[in-house]
Amino acid sequence: MSTQNTAHPLQGRVAVITGASSGIGEASAEKLAALGAHAVVLARRADRLTDLVARIEKHGGSATAITADVTDRAAVQAAADQVAAERGGADLLLNNAGVMLPAPIEELATDQWQRQIDLNITGLMNVIGAFVPQLVKAACKDGVADLINTSSIAAQNIFPNFAVYSGTKAYVTQLSRHLRVELGPKNVRVSAIEPGIVDTELQEHVTDQGAIDWLEGSKEATEWLTPQDIADTIGFLASLPRRVNFQQVTIMPTGQPY
Ligand code: NDP
Repeated sequence: MSTQNTAHPLQGRVAVITGASSGIGEASAEKLAALGAHAVVLARRADRLTDLVARIEKHGGSATAITADVTDRAAVQAAADQVAAERGGADLLLNNAGVMLPAPIEELATDQWQRQIDLNITGLMNVIGAFVPQLVKAACKDGVADLINTSSIAAQNIFPNFAVYSGTKAYVTQLSRHLRVELGPKNVRVSAIEPGIVDTELQEHVTDQGAIDWLEGSKEATEWLTPQDIADTIGFLASLPRRVNFQQVTIMPTGQPY
């Protein structure tokens, strides 16, 4: 990390953001770039990433798009190798790609169970495996690096029919707590972000009618968070003095009770 300045506290840093083609990842990439980081934006939809890079550059930032499926371990490692070759490695990772497919367990929607486990757990671990060595190396050299995993309020609370999704997010939070203990002594800060409902494409993938009705009712009753709300929080965490590590950040819409 180069010298800190107040307008661009992340100047000189290299931030990798997964799930950057929409929602929380997209907004966070823009925020981190606005704070001075080079943003490496990763997802499957190349056209969306190209547009995002152009937008970041138009606002004076710098970014690189990498098209990859995080459930493909070799593709994620290739992405990490590219970041190492082109940028000297990442020192900030927002491990964010995820999918939410609620349904009553007795419907036996096993394909949807598998998609959530494959992306929210295995994909998350593929990214950790590929990029943690870079974070540790950067922290050793510069005194700080950040691993921020996107979990959910579902990691804490009970949402009927969201059992598999909630289980994957409980995994993310508990994993993050363990990794903070392992990596903190090496100057890598580890945080889990646990948002309540954020208005993104996440809800559009839901096929269970009961869950769709529940989400529509919630949207009528409550002002949901925006992706920018989460992006601002991520920018804040990454800009803190290196001695400060928020272990877990729960961000709720004011009107969402649980
Ligand atoms: P979006 O659906 O808008 O974003 C999901 C992102 O993940 C997209 O960029 C998508 O891009 C990417 N993605 C999906 N599958 C893959 C894959 N196999 N490989 C690489 N990238 C993939 O939803 P959000 O922004 O809301 O979700 C971001 C995270 O926030 C998720 O982990 C979600 O669980 C979590 N979260 C969301 C909340 C909400 O209410 N929205 C609340 C709490 C947590 P592409 O399709 O181009 O690959």
